[in-house]
Amino acid sequence: MLNGKVALITGASRGIGKEIALTFASYGAKVVVNYNGSKEKADEVVKEIEAMGGEAIAIQCSVADYEACGNMVNEAIAKFGKVDILVNNAGITKDNLVMKISDEDFDAVIDTNLKGTFNCIKQLYRPFLKQRSGRIINMTSVTGILGNAGQANYAASKAGVIGLTKSVARELATRGITVNAIAPGFIATEMTDAMTDAAKQAVLSQIPLGRVGNTKDIAETAAFLASDKAAYITGQVISVDGGMYM
Ligand code: NAP
Repeated sequence: MLNGKVALITGASRGIGKEIALTFASYGAKVVVNYNGSKEKADEVVKEIEAMGGEAIAIQCSVADYEACGNMVNEAIAKFGKVDILVNNAGITKDNLVMKISDEDFDAVIDTNLKGTFNCIKQLYRPFLKQRSGRIINMTSVTGILGNAGQANYAASKAGVIGLTKSVARELATRGITVNAIAPGFIATEMTDAMTDAAKQAVLSQIPLGRVGNTKDIAETAAFLASDKAAYITGQVISVDGGMYM
């Protein structure tokens, strides 16, 4: 499904990003495994892909750093000759009630989740224009659609990602480049492990399909959006949330 394609996946050392990296590789893509702090885990993802007979490289870069994103794109192109697919998956939470959110925690979440997505798109904008093709998949969240008490910074960043997705989709549509977002619901990863049992139960009661999602649910959607099968889909937010938002 992705034979011959090169995919750059941010935050691919763990969780959803790791699953996307492994899934894309299983469909024949060469993968750039971006990470920020988890070098050993990123190297492990590369090893897993190589063990499958695939090709991958791990690149450290905080997506919040625009120049570093440029260096990462250059390194990826030097290694694989091009980038076809950008998955902006890197994300963080710093949950609190508004009155307790510090300036630093507000900025950190916006800088990683929203600005980081913008940074990577901007650094790949010209290469995508030049090749007159490209796929951009941005990770938003059900929280960016519905809002969530205690997650104002995170919800704002993810709602921002939706506006960014639609705007860039309109800018690049005539160039054969599609831009879509995936809005996961409650997916079992280290991010959600951090929640209390009570909070998890509360969310579970809001999921019509009655189960927590797994990383594969998101990775297969991303693979579809990255493939030729999704050539006529752009500017969309695909909810993969067990029906939480409908
Ligand atoms: P996770 O398990 O906490 O993993 C986060 C990933 O992002 C890690 O690979 C981490 O890399 C990377 N990362 C964090 N800051 C970064 C930065 N500045 N630069 C580059 N990479 C950075 O999270 P997850 O649950 O897989 O979530 C992945 C995405 O899905 C996020 O955007 C999240 O908001 C979204 N999402 C998740 C859920 C859910 O239920 N899990 C629901 C809705 C949306 P290092 O370890 O190397 O720092």
